[in-house]
Amino acid sequence: MSTMIHRLQSIIQEVGRSPDTQHALDLIAGRLIKDLVANACTIFLATNTEPPVLVLKASYGLNPENINQVQRRFGEGLIGVVAERAEPINLVNATEHKNFILVPDSGETSFPIYLGVPIVSHRKVLGVIAIQRAENAFNEDDEAFLATLAAQLATSIEHVESQGRFKLIGETKSEPTTHIVKGVAGSPGMAIGEAIVLNRGVKLESVPDKKVTDQAPELRSFNDAIRKVHDDLTDQADRMRGALPEEECALFVAYAQMLNSGSLIDDTHKRIGEGNWAPASWRDTVEDHACVFDQMEDEYLAERANDIRDLGRRVLRKLMLEQSPYIDFPDRTVLVGDEITATDLADVPLECLCAILSAHGSGSSHVAILAHALGIPAVMGMSNLPVKQMDGLQVIVDGYGGFAYVDPNRKLLTEYEKYLREEEEIEKDLLCLKNEPAITTDNHRISLYVNSGLMADHTPSLRSGAEGVGLYRTEIPFQIRDRFPSEEEQYHIYRNVLETFNGMPVVLRTLDVGGDKPLSYFPIKEANPFLGWRGVRITLDHPEIFVTQVRAMMRANIGQNNLQILLPMISGQSELEDSLKLIHRVKDEIEDELGEPLQMPQIGAMIEVPSAVYQIEDICSLVDFVSIGTNDLTQYLLAVDRNNENVAELFSSLHPAVLKAMCQIVEGAAKSGTPVSVCGEMAGDPLGVMALLGMKIESLSMSVGSLLKAKKVIKTFSLVELESMLAEAILMTDPAHVRELYASKLDQRELGGLIRAGK
Ligand code: PEP
Ligand code: MG
Repeated sequence: MSTMIHRLQSIIQEVGRSPDTQHALDLIAGRLIKDLVANACTIFLATNTEPPVLVLKASYGLNPENINQVQRRFGEGLIGVVAERAEPINLVNATEHKNFILVPDSGETSFPIYLGVPIVSHRKVLGVIAIQRAENAFNEDDEAFLATLAAQLATSIEHVESQGRFKLIGETKSEPTTHIVKGVAGSPGMAIGEAIVLNRGVKLESVPDKKVTDQAPELRSFNDAIRKVHDDLTDQADRMRGALPEEECALFVAYAQMLNSGSLIDDTHKRIGEGNWAPASWRDTVEDHACVFDQMEDEYLAERANDIRDLGRRVLRKLMLEQSPYIDFPDRTVLVGDEITATDLADVPLECLCAILSAHGSGSSHVAILAHALGIPAVMGMSNLPVKQMDGLQVIVDGYGGFAYVDPNRKLLTEYEKYLREEEEIEKDLLCLKNEPAITTDNHRISLYVNSGLMADHTPSLRSGAEGVGLYRTEIPFQIRDRFPSEEEQYHIYRNVLETFNGMPVVLRTLDVGGDKPLSYFPIKEANPFLGWRGVRITLDHPEIFVTQVRAMMRANIGQNNLQILLPMISGQSELEDSLKLIHRVKDEIEDELGEPLQMPQIGAMIEVPSAVYQIEDICSLVDFVSIGTNDLTQYLLAVDRNNENVAELFSSLHPAVLKAMCQIVEGAAKSGTPVSVCGEMAGDPLGVMALLGMKIESLSMSVGSLLKAKKVIKTFSLVELESMLAEAILMTDPAHVRELYASKLDQRELGGLIRAGK
């Protein structure tokens, strides 16, 4: 078994390093012949046409002239049967099968033993691999091996395909394309800008390619880095000599020798000569050398791959020290990375940042929410984003549809430039609504608030006519520090928001870390973080953190009296009771210190865990208001991780089950007259606004960029018609149909431009 895993891993690794799909497929065919002792191997890939056609892309043991010539429809021939049924076929007498078709001049007749497996990714058949033998039937192990390989290859093929299109270095640059890279919508809007790949220091695999014309400084800094690491290693060997046995010290000497080996240095010099900068040239050399050792069956030698990678990191660290950490950001920077984090945004001057593209993360992840707050488009979960090859390329970002064009051609640019102009017109029209109240056509007034967490949000929020802050995520100021902020620091942050929104309600949420919101200085390691220690569960276990925070909030409210406190992740009544006890204790303490009474702020609970939906009446008996967190409520009701791009398509706050749960919250809260607001992303989605109004929700809190769009929607419809749309939506079973229903109603009023590119 272990040899099977070893063989699989080594094939996948080689495929991962292939420069293009053709190379990868030839390699697989060759390896399968060897590993499964077969006589022939053919690989067909499906075209992107409708209907798709299977085209022979690689073959081993058959006539090579058939490549790209032989084609099969789904259902035609044995290959077509495997593709149509999307399941393996294992035959001992293939030539007698009714679907058998002989490839002309192939010599296929002599190989009656046949095993074909489909290559499937995300429910789509990408191709078929077939192997043949003259004798000895394929057994269960062979079948399992090929099926496992095909499943892993599906991802690699998709990846290599998209990377292969963007070769910048060492080959002539590919022509501008119309190639689309898909992801999930993270924040709406459109942008055309220049990709900047953030370079996060010392991870070899995340070093991006960078084209250089002047190679001399690259060679110089590389040679310097090698010399410095070599000196460090010999120093370390000398220092260790007293403390370690000679044998262990020898490791440092061996490292130093390995470093000076001609091929590591020569290969890197050659790559720099081809026009890549030193860190990426070094990255490729290290990976090439490490892979040679990876392939070795001998465990001792295979272990040397780790030594080479370790050396690689040491040299890279020195190289990176020489690179200025401050990039000269272009005016229209599109930040690109494997996993852009909330703190990465702080590295780019906000006036330059025009969009975000991230290979991982989903539409409801925190970086997407921040992008929304900043009013810039973001596309997340772009698993085929050619991150390393993108630095400096032009990109079109469509944050409505959740896709991007990398290095687009003139025709696409012209089209999107037109959309951008239309978008500007829409925004200009919306600005006229700034000072108007949000009232439905049948005179129902809706209150609109903003979600915040960054100081930078405040001015645009006030400018767009927000009536207060409906959700201030206090974890954001906690996340951008390297330790817990003191009571005094927190006091100033909260005081600033309360004063900025003087006379308007400001809802400060107590610390909601855990899950996908880490604090670098308070690491939590859990198998299931979303079901673990997060939100109020942490702050109740650490009353010192909670009490300090609530003290800072209440002190900041003295003389302001516009504070409301919101408790996150409430999953039961006792959490609420315990939190309230602590809040009252803080109030008593401050009153004692001041010697005068303090106004008690309103206290609310977030309804974002399914148990809270079913206990809504009990919860309402303890609080002044409730706020529905649709991001987490959707995540927990549908069992869809809000950050996992593999299931991002299943994440929908318009799912009829989510709508029903929200109706139940509204009905339950109405019994005690407890006000209900919504502060998840749904409240800022024009389609979500339509659904929420239909539930008679009168208070919405959203990212500032969504505010005027929401107001436009509210002013367009009557509550009566939105109620009847909701009644229709709730009877549907498929979230896509609910979306279509609301989108068609928006289109009928010519407001489709609020949810997609252009007018
Ligand atoms: C929510 O879960 O909907 C919410 C508003 O909170 P957060 O996104 O910060 O978890
Ligand atoms: Mg939440």
